[in-house]
Amino acid sequence: LAEKMDQTVRKLRGTDKITEANIGGALKEVRRSMLDADVNLRVVDQLIADVRERAVGSQVVAGVEPGQQFIKIIYEELTRVMGKDAAPLARRAAGSGPTVVLLAGLQGAGKTTAAAKLALYVLLVACDVYRPAAVEQLQTLAGMIDVDVFTADLELGAVEIARRGLTAAEEGKYDTVIIDTAGRQVINDKLMRELRDVKAATRPDDTLLVVDAMTGQEAANLTRAFNDSVGITGAILTKLDGDTRGGAALSVQSVSGKPIKFVGTGEKVEKLEPFFPERMASRILGMGDVLTLVDKAEEAMDVKEAEALTKRMVENTFDFEDFLKQSKMISTMGSFGGLMKMLPGVGSISGQQMAQAEQKLKLATCLINSMTVAERRQPDLLGSGGAAASRLSRIARGSGRSVADAKTLVSDFQRMRTMMAKMSKKMMAEQGGGPGG
Ligand code: GDP
Ligand code: MG
Repeated sequence: LAEKMDQTVRKLRGTDKITEANIGGALKEVRRSMLDADVNLRVVDQLIADVRERAVGSQVVAGVEPGQQFIKIIYEELTRVMGKDAAPLARRAAGSGPTVVLLAGLQGAGKTTAAAKLALYVLLVACDVYRPAAVEQLQTLAGMIDVDVFTADLELGAVEIARRGLTAAEEGKYDTVIIDTAGRQVINDKLMRELRDVKAATRPDDTLLVVDAMTGQEAANLTRAFNDSVGITGAILTKLDGDTRGGAALSVQSVSGKPIKFVGTGEKVEKLEPFFPERMASRILGMGDVLTLVDKAEEAMDVKEAEALTKRMVENTFDFEDFLKQSKMISTMGSFGGLMKMLPGVGSISGQQMAQAEQKLKLATCLINSMTVAERRQPDLLGSGGAAASRLSRIARGSGRSVADAKTLVSDFQRMRTMMAKMSKKMMAEQGGGPGG
């Protein structure tokens, strides 16, 4: 697919609009790639439709390759479904009893293994009362990592064992309880009823569906069934160490709207990792370099903007519009304080100074918003004389600030502009090159 994508990127070069015609082939490739990765057919078609709708007719951002923009859209749609960040286990508030995690899934999905893997300072409760030696398996795994297991007479049934396990945890001061349950080869009513009952009796904070990544397309139906009749809060995708591309991840999340919280990457107890949506998106698309392409696209946008601003600084033509753009860039990068901390040598600025600077930036933005376009482009219009004075008082009125505030902004701005021009010229001279060189 990576190769096909490269072709698309090249084909789209020079176009300023993404059309049905110039991405049709690429969309087909993406669709095939996702099906190869075992994403459920309905999920794939919905995704492709979403991508098409967003991409076709979209104007290409200046300085960005249209092909890159297209890939970015695909990628964004994938991560929209899978979520952006790793989702941790739910935690019950301190003092209100142990956190309870219930594991559900088909037989052989990897529930018991996942239970042991999840265990850190927890009590495992063995509720698979059917599978021969299920309890021993959990005990063996738990023994390897020195974790306690609660067991009781299997005749009591899963619900009663779960209830007693919980009581034992409360008395023993465990802070997390992980309940391993029985599975079936196929979904059936008895399994679902038992799960519902265990859930009602233990009121888990997390109910995780354990899905074998090899389940492929079936993962979608499986998820729907468990989510509808038991209700899940997330999932664990196991056996990702195999050669499956992991399309089940997309199906599970698309059908349930719930995050994958962990992935199993081997039989050993330490083989459990948080789920990283971005890595999964690349794996499903079968192209490791999607991320690099996306990064490049993003960089391109920033670089273009930054270059233009630098040029205007050097030429001393930096105006109020540029100022607004820059403060917007600052606010998208996080708080003013956060930005200052990243600058070397600015560590000594106090929280109070930081707050003042932020306040000043807000005031400036407010005043600039009340300026006419001409005034923003030609700050000198506000420099001196009677005309400037009447402009300043109009701006002050329009923004609900005082004339003195407006005056201060203009003189600060002019001082800053001169200083920036000087500084950037000096920097250019030191680097021995000119702008753009
Ligand atoms: P359960 O029936 O859902 O409790 O499934 P088990 O935990 O007993 O696992 C079934 C089989 O899958 C066992 O042989 C496990 O060792 C294996 N298994 C579980 N998780 C993984 C994994 O992430 N990778 C691999 N390769 N095998 C796994
Ligand atoms: Mg089991």
